[in-house]
Amino acid sequence: MTESSRPIRTRYAPSPTGDPHIGNIRSALFSWAYARANGGQFLLRIEDTDRNRLVETSVGAIMESLRWLGIDWDEGPDIGGPHAPYFQSQRLPLYRKAAETLMDRGRAYRCFCTAERLDQLRAAQAAAKRPPGYDGLCRALSRDESEARARREPYVIRFAMDREGQTVLHDIIRGDVVFENSLQDDFVMLKSDGYPTYHLALIVDDTEMEITHCIRGDEWISSAPKHIQLYEALGWEPPGWAHLPLILGPDHKKLSKRSGDTAVLDYRDKGYLPEAMVNFLALLGWSLDDHTSILGAGELKRHFDLARVVPNPAVFDIERLNHLNGHYIRAMDDGRWEATITEWCARQLPESVKRPIDPDIVKSVAPLLKERVSRLDEIAGMVEFLFGYEAPEYELDALTERVGGDAEVALKAVDGALVALDAIPQERWDRDAIEAAIRGMEATLGMKLRKFVPVLYVAEMGRPQGIPLFDSLELLGRERTLQRLRTARARLG
Ligand code: GLU
Repeated sequence: MTESSRPIRTRYAPSPTGDPHIGNIRSALFSWAYARANGGQFLLRIEDTDRNRLVETSVGAIMESLRWLGIDWDEGPDIGGPHAPYFQSQRLPLYRKAAETLMDRGRAYRCFCTAERLDQLRAAQAAAKRPPGYDGLCRALSRDESEARARREPYVIRFAMDREGQTVLHDIIRGDVVFENSLQDDFVMLKSDGYPTYHLALIVDDTEMEITHCIRGDEWISSAPKHIQLYEALGWEPPGWAHLPLILGPDHKKLSKRSGDTAVLDYRDKGYLPEAMVNFLALLGWSLDDHTSILGAGELKRHFDLARVVPNPAVFDIERLNHLNGHYIRAMDDGRWEATITEWCARQLPESVKRPIDPDIVKSVAPLLKERVSRLDEIAGMVEFLFGYEAPEYELDALTERVGGDAEVALKAVDGALVALDAIPQERWDRDAIEAAIRGMEATLGMKLRKFVPVLYVAEMGRPQGIPLFDSLELLGRERTLQRLRTARARLG
């Protein structure tokens, strides 16, 4: 089959060394989108050959992260497929066979150098200010000697790199990248424990699994000459290469844990919506056109193209993510929004609040909340005041904090509100009457609404700001509203 008639096949090939992070999952999203946009297939392969770094729970977290984002796979460890198994640790004979083929062709050799020798070598290279790398000592061993030593000594298998000329990476995103072969060294392909390194396992599996495009993070670009030479030495056709741009933190340094590169599932647990995350990740290096900022998985599946991925770094801007999250919250239909509020209240409200969460309260507060929330973990704190008779607990200082610590002013505000609101009879207790009464306080107190309103927020809600006050007091009802003001006054007095 020619290149163009092969169906597009891409993969996400994480190492199960922890929960997948933002930077890493972007590779999954782009690989998936490229396959989907081209009517191709996307598969999940677990690269678990580094036995020292395995984290038991990772495979579950990897699949959960993908599912949360709506990234589906056609073949993988859980569902199998024509190229099973999809755990590299279960494919060891394939790697050994490739290593042996390379040995037979004189492109690989056993290396018996001890860890001490390699340490000394590294130290000597550092002292002489030369780049680190294996010096090729065991490359000179004869086949017989190598066989004989292999019976008594542990060894690794190294690839014999071509050390002359250049290796050229034809990168779909960056164009041609040229590497000097003299700077390469004979890297380890098969470790003494029989497990392959990434370099060998990658090309064996990408070939065997008929991957047409290797879409991966930019951190792998320096390894590309190894991979290209391996393909050449084995006589296999390499895939198309696409190295995705680096993601930088807001400080324009490489994204770190502190600047946002934390586990994808942490974002879910903080109350980000998957739509917001997909939208956000999609624009870290790719764009649909020069103006679209809101787009979803549907657009990605239809229009994603590697030609519109830029090589220069993308900047991770949490404000943009918050903004997108707010957008998708406001786009939710009532049913989903109410279910979301119920879920987060059940999760985060104190135990003293009765379960199941009162659906009438949820329904009444839902429209008010929608405009005010940009993360779902803000919900419970904002609505807690509606679930009890008294306001949620607050420090006395909170009542005076926004009025310059002046208890007199706070007391005036509370008393003023008591008088104004007490004058509204029960049957006229609604938003408009409440608004008129509270606005009227400006004249009687000689104080701006903006100044005294935080005192009322604290008295009613236990916090200096929240969902709109007038609507909230209507929901709270006349009796509870007045009672909370009396409590505040007692505390201030
Ligand atoms: N196991 C590698 C990683 O987790 C895969 C890189 C690739 O996509 O080839 O980064």
